[in-house]
Order: sequence, then structure tokens, then C-alpha cells
Amino acid sequence: MFVTGTLDTFAAEQFRRVLGTVPVDRPLVVDLSRAEFVGHHALFILAESASAERPLLVRGDGNLSELVSLIGLATPQLRFEHVDRAVPTCAHCGDVIGVYEPTVIMLDGACRVTSRAAHPDAVDKALARYHHACYGRPSRSAPSSGMLSVR
Ligand SMILES: [Zn+2]
Repeated sequence: MFVTGTLDTFAAEQFRRVLGTVPVDRPLVVDLSRAEFVGHHALFILAESASAERPLLVRGDGNLSELVSLIGLATPQLRFEHVDRAVPTCAHCGDVIGVYEPTVIMLDGACRVTSRAAHPDAVDKALARYHHACYGRPSRSAPSSGMLSVR
């Protein structure tokens, strides 16, 4: 189960319902490493959903590990695994590309304008990523094929 977006108090009830639809006869891996925000409500829901019959393995970044240790939630039924989320950087300036920033990506031989929020997988898979403002700047070998917008 992959969770993307924001798992705040408002989304927590929906998260609980989704977890309720998953069969309870085997272990479940919940990947939160791409969620933009994980609130403590979501962690309590995970704790409620974990059982000896259905242990949960939750993947998340360092912030999640910290939150888990703060509220002391880890149990044998609920385990956490720390994964580092690769932070995409601009091939022109080397700075981090923000989640909502317009981003030019090179993927499958074409250039597209998108953002990490709109297409996180495409941005991850891209051969190169640029801030929209950095794309095509002189002095670097910016790709010259046509731009295509992904919606
Ligand atoms: Zn840049």
C-alpha cells in the first residue's frame, strides 16, 4: 500500500476506512515514504490496525521515525522501517526542486513540464530534472527537444 499526499487529521478517517478494506490474514506493508505529511492520528490508526494476525510494516523517512519514537508506538505488531527519500535536485543549479515547483523533466526521450506534487513517479524516474526557470539557461547542455505539458 502506497500512501501519497497529506495524511493529516482530516485524511486520517479515510485512511482508517482504506485500512479496514485490506484483508487481515497476512502482513501488510504501508509505505509512507512518499507522503508529504504524516500526522500522529495516522500513526494511532496504524497501531489500532496492527495485530498478531496482521502485523504492519510501515516505511517512512526520518521524520516519521522521530514521530514514532516521540509517541512511543513501536510494538512487535507494528514495525517501522526507515527509508531515505531521494530528494530531486536541479541538473542546472544543483538546488533541491520543491514539491510544487514547475519542473522540466527528461523522460522517455521527451521533455515535460510537471511537478513533484503532480507526478512524483515521473520526476523520480526522469533522466534529468530542472527548475522551470533553469531549463534552457545558457552555459549548460540543456536539452533542445520540444516541451510537452503533463496533466
Ligand atoms: Zn535549478
